[in-house]
Amino acid sequence: MNPLSDRINNLSTSQTLAMAALARELKAQGRDIISLSLGEPDFNTPDFIKEAAKKAIDENYSTYTPVDGYIELKEAICKKFKRDNNLDYKSGNIVVSTGAKQSLYNIAQVMLNEGDEVILPAPYWVSYYEIIKLSGGVPVEVPTTVDTDFKITPEQLEAAITPRTKMMWFSSPCNPSGSVYNREELTALAKVLEKHPNIYIASDEIYEHINFSGTFCSIASIPGMFEKTITVNGVAKAFAMTGWRIGYIGAPEFIAKACTKMQGQVTSGANSIAQRATIAAVEADPSVLKQMVNAFHSRRDLVVRLVKEIPGFKVNIPEGAFYVFPDVSAFFGKTLKGTLIKDATDFSMYLLAEANVATVTGDAFGNPDCLRISYATSEEQLTEALQRIKEAVKSEVFA
Ligand code: PMP
Ligand code: GLU
Repeated sequence: MNPLSDRINNLSTSQTLAMAALARELKAQGRDIISLSLGEPDFNTPDFIKEAAKKAIDENYSTYTPVDGYIELKEAICKKFKRDNNLDYKSGNIVVSTGAKQSLYNIAQVMLNEGDEVILPAPYWVSYYEIIKLSGGVPVEVPTTVDTDFKITPEQLEAAITPRTKMMWFSSPCNPSGSVYNREELTALAKVLEKHPNIYIASDEIYEHINFSGTFCSIASIPGMFEKTITVNGVAKAFAMTGWRIGYIGAPEFIAKACTKMQGQVTSGANSIAQRATIAAVEADPSVLKQMVNAFHSRRDLVVRLVKEIPGFKVNIPEGAFYVFPDVSAFFGKTLKGTLIKDATDFSMYLLAEANVATVTGDAFGNPDCLRISYATSEEQLTEALQRIKEAVKSEVFA
């Protein structure tokens, strides 16, 4: 008999992390793997942030932190929300957590009762689905395709709403599609949500700064949405701080208090040194990120160009984050070098075996026709990886 709980037995492993681990393992065995699986910037944390952390160590920031975060950090986050998003949060609206992943887990735990439905425009970030399920919620997927830039319409949103709908969760810029909802598109979705005052929104804006569209809009800044939105953000992506583990939310005070209560029983306040360093990060003018963002922009252009040259790959032009999400369904049912490709998972495993390139199956993100390619790596590696993929799939199939 399996002694583990149903809860853990029913939980799927994070496929982004699993693929990254597999790539690492194969590399350790001596295989020449290029990993385009993990969403993790390949840059170092900027020096001014590292200096702030060193100073915090020297100043003995070594004790437990307030559960919801240092007041100085929460105040800096309020200023950031005002400066970048025109949102008027007060420190009582802010909760700092151990990564945006914990922020999302807190939200699910404090908002969802058994059977509550959560609308997930698909593709969605891999962990939303499992976090919602783990918290008793029922994910309701709203499918999109590459042809509509992976964005949902107000009509689709309306059709997905039922009396059990409690929330909608989405990311913009989106992981994995890179799509960015503009103000008009969010306003149209907000019009639908306005008619359903009991529906709350988790707006995951962790890729806010990695955005080539020239505009960014937080749904909480749209009239009528502020009181119903939990704005999720963090420093992992924009500031190349994935390992520092700091995320945060801006939320109506009763939700912020609930998240604090939750966190107080589970992890307590986030790491003291990382919080002090995060003050420096969120206080900095976003122009300090220009070099990194420009690098991602030029990689985006490179990858889109190279992917478009591969017969059978269909791709849109992602406006943000650092992923492309090509539709590869043209290969399903075909045989490549003796391997039958039934679906995106087979295709991703085939690329790993044949091309030594790690990607993540679209299944993990609720879109089984696609494959996620992370371009958070050098242009040389990207060019080599795409060349290998092109070789591995050139064939018989599209001859
Ligand atoms: N949301 C999205 C859309 C992400 O891609 C990630 C990446 N891990 C997270 C949340 C979690 O971020 P963190 O590393 O701060 O937990
Ligand atoms: N968010 C990243 C990704 O999607 C990191 C991995 C994870 O936390 O799942 O690859």
